[in-house]
Order: sequence, then structure tokens, then C-alpha cells
Amino acid sequence: METRYQQCRSCFFSTQFPRVTIYENGKCNFCNSREFPATVKAQTGSDINELHRIAEELKQKKQGKYDCIIGASGGLDSSYVIYVAKKVLGLNPLVISYDHGFTCDVAKNNLQTICKKLGVDFKIVRSAKDNNVKHVKFLVLALKNIDIYWGLCQFCRYLRPAVIYKYALRENISATLTSRNMYEATNLAGLPAGRKLKSMLRGMLKLLNIVKLAKFLFYFPIALYYLLRLKLEFYVPPVSNIFRRDPKPPKIETINITRYVPWDINSIVKTLTEEMGWKAPNLMLPMRFDCQIDDSFIDYTFRKTFGVTSHAVICNNLICDGTRTKSQLKDTVEFHDKIVNERIQEMMGRLGLKSK
Ligand SMILES: [Zn+2]
Repeated sequence: METRYQQCRSCFFSTQFPRVTIYENGKCNFCNSREFPATVKAQTGSDINELHRIAEELKQKKQGKYDCIIGASGGLDSSYVIYVAKKVLGLNPLVISYDHGFTCDVAKNNLQTICKKLGVDFKIVRSAKDNNVKHVKFLVLALKNIDIYWGLCQFCRYLRPAVIYKYALRENISATLTSRNMYEATNLAGLPAGRKLKSMLRGMLKLLNIVKLAKFLFYFPIALYYLLRLKLEFYVPPVSNIFRRDPKPPKIETINITRYVPWDINSIVKTLTEEMGWKAPNLMLPMRFDCQIDDSFIDYTFRKTFGVTSHAVICNNLICDGTRTKSQLKDTVEFHDKIVNERIQEMMGRLGLKSK
């Protein structure tokens, strides 16, 4: 049976995307389901008294200069974690920013402004030999032959927590404050993880070409070599971490403050912009603007696999929850669609590579 192309009335999905059906009311199955708003609600809480109690405990338990450690980029969520830690809870946090070399200036400026304003110590951590840029460069060269770039962010998935653990151990800090923004979860939007794997395998078919295969087999081990260098540079025990996708946490307590503070995007933006001088390039979608890899290769791969950028998926999450409307986000989605190729060229220049 042939399915007619249809677009959802209230979000950016169409029948082109996997598992999407449009119902008689013109809305897709994702918009018709109450599952996503319920998931968001379940993840966010408003038990500020309990959070205050935890904070007091941290102050009493502290062994070094700091009550806790916070990994931050200057994006929406981490900026708010710093704000809550210092201004609301009166904690003395150490803020660590792992700069992989692809962080946007707006985010970096946000972090500096906020930490300065709140009088919080912060440290920007970079690879001394630019190993992260080298890793990404050779991974791009390898993946170019498959033309699917899932996995380009994996190094960050390891390094970000590793850097936090390293400094927590060094400064004798026993707790880290984090957050969980459900709107950024792109797998909730009915995009099955299996599709990612399938697209990767389909890309692999390109390697039946002997020249492409030779290139892939040449570049991929070099990329892995630089990843190993990174893991050694930011080494956290035990040794088995070198072989793991995520580093094993040392004895450190993780406190997800989203569980205690309402994660209301609009009021968080209002607080941060008005009180902290925080900025976002686009206030309609005040998230996911901090990493250049995201805007370029990841959005390219998302669009190729699912027909939408990862930014459009996040927009859909905001619509589904009633935080935004489709018409409010139309320009944003179009913008991210339009800039993908341009951003890839910028990234190639940044990596010292010829155009894609
Ligand atoms: Zn929809």
C-alpha cells in the first residue's frame, strides 16, 4: 500500500520519518501521545527543601576548598546548575570546562561572565597537544568514506566525565552537581536507536570500494591512537578505563539537580539572561548551541538518516510538551537545515582539511 506524504500539523515530523503516522486530527503519533510530557514531568521535581538539606550535608562533609564540582560548557543547563549551586544553595563549587576545541564563543563567554559574577572558581581544561582536534580530524577522514558521522562525539562522552573525575580526585571533592534536560533527548522522539546502526551499516557498504576501504583502514586506527592519547592525558584510575566507553566513576556522589528544581526552560532563560547576563544566539531554541560538531556533522548525519536535524528533533520535544509552538520554531528549524553544509565547510577548515 502506498502511503501519501503527509506532514504533522503541529510539529516538524512527516511520514518520511521512521514510524511516523499522521492521524485524522492532522497530528502525528508523537504529538498525539502523552508519553513525552509525562516523561519530562517524571524527571523534574520541585523539592527545594530536600536540595537544601543535601547542600548542607555537602558543606559539612567537605574536605578541601570546594563543596562540589560542576562540569560546564556555558550552555543553558550547566549555566543554571552553577547558578543554583552558588546563588540558591550557597555552595562553593569548582567549575570545570572541558574545551575540546569546538566550543562556540557565545558559550565560552557565558561561562566566564557567570563565574565572574558569582565569584566562582573555574578552570578551562584543554589537551596540551590538541589531541582532541587530531582525533576528530582523523575520524572525519575515516568516516568520510562511509558518509555517516555517528560516533564523532564519542570522545567527548568519555572525556567530559574523565576531566571532572580527575579534578575531583585532585581537589578532594566528593560530589558533582549535574542536570538532565529531557528536551535534548533525541531518542525519545520516536527515533529508534536501531536506525542509527542500520544507517551506519548501509554506509559501510561503500567500503566495498577498495580505495575507500583502504582509506578507512588507514585513518581509523590513527583516530583511535589519538583517542588513546587523550585517555592517557586525562587518565583516571582504574587502568581498565582505557578500554571503556565511559570512565568508571571514582568514589563521587552525583547529584542531579533537575530532580529537585523545576526544569522550566522559559523561567531558566529569564533568570539567566536577566540576572547573569547570559546569552543564547536564538532564544526560541536556547539549547544545543555550544558545540560546532553538533551543528555540522551530527546534523548532517541526522538529516541523512531521519530526514531532520537533531535541532528539529529537540524543537519537536519542546512543541510536544507545550513549551513552544510550530510557528514559533519554524525559522529555527529552517535555519539549522540551511547552515549544515556551510558549518561542515567551516569545520573542515578548522581541522585543516580540504572541503568535504
Ligand atoms: Zn507531530
